[in-house]
Amino acid sequence: MKDFAYVAAPDVATAVREIGPGAKFLGGGTNLVDLMREGIEAPDRVIDISRLPLTGVDELPDGGLRVGALVRNSDLAAHPLIRARYPMLAQAVLMGASGQLRNMATVGGNLVQRTRCLYLYDGTLPCNKREPGSGCAAIGGANRMHAILGASEHCIATHPSDMCVALAALDATVDMESVRGTRRIPLLDFHRLPGDSPRVETALEPDELITAVEIPAVPVAAMSRYRKVRDRASYAFALVSVAAALRVAGGRVEAVRLALGGVAARPWRAVEAERVLTGAAATEAEFRRAAEAELSAATPQSENGFKIELARRTITATLLRLAEEGAA
Ligand code: SF4
Repeated sequence: MKDFAYVAAPDVATAVREIGPGAKFLGGGTNLVDLMREGIEAPDRVIDISRLPLTGVDELPDGGLRVGALVRNSDLAAHPLIRARYPMLAQAVLMGASGQLRNMATVGGNLVQRTRCLYLYDGTLPCNKREPGSGCAAIGGANRMHAILGASEHCIATHPSDMCVALAALDATVDMESVRGTRRIPLLDFHRLPGDSPRVETALEPDELITAVEIPAVPVAAMSRYRKVRDRASYAFALVSVAAALRVAGGRVEAVRLALGGVAARPWRAVEAERVLTGAAATEAEFRRAAEAELSAATPQSENGFKIELARRTITATLLRLAEEGAA
């Protein structure tokens, strides 16, 4: 690991003043330190933000919640208001990483964690994220874990977060601060598809600090689930995951939220499936039809064609379970 200078920021103003070219913010360190060990990130200065007062979960007047960027994943998943109002978010966080990692990892860090594509970490093979213009070793390579939606000829990586999939379904927003002021954008606009510049992964400017995530009131989310399909029951990234909320009235879908993980470079809001489902009969056949509509644009790689059917089945099964629970 390259030597670096260390600065402990006592407040947000100092943190955003200290950041600059060659510097990185350090929160829980669960991704950045790995990347530094592998030489993928090599900052000259590390600005430790772990002591900043961004650890609150506060109620908003509209019934939503404002979650500080330094709330630990474990605390978020255990928070009674998160569990009551957004069960799919609590479940998603609990299905990510290990207990030890969740105790360290922060909400803000979760948003900016980088793909676990093996080639990003392998300095001997081409990777457009690590070295723009070098190529993408995953295309035609080991791509079982890679994207089936929104990929490009330059990068087919997936976003690794579970938490962000639930936040995408909830229309969360991200608050950021820099010496230029504050800024807020929808989470759905925060993560970028690779296009022809896969190195640019988020809308966060290099000098901006994430300060909070706001989740609006989403009444349907009280009846929600996160389902994650992975190779082993703990500490594995999603092959496919589904964050879903559903309200059925008179046998028809009255409200629905749906987002997918493990399928794209960003949490994938299933807009087409939501459109098909709204007002449709709450039946397995209609759930399957919505899943097929969402996956109609999927493009498999050499090793991950199974994800398309897996995603269809996971969407259908998750919605069916919610419908059954709602009827019970
Ligand atoms: Fe690099 Fe993206 Fe290709 Fe992986 S998929 S090798 S991260 S360019």
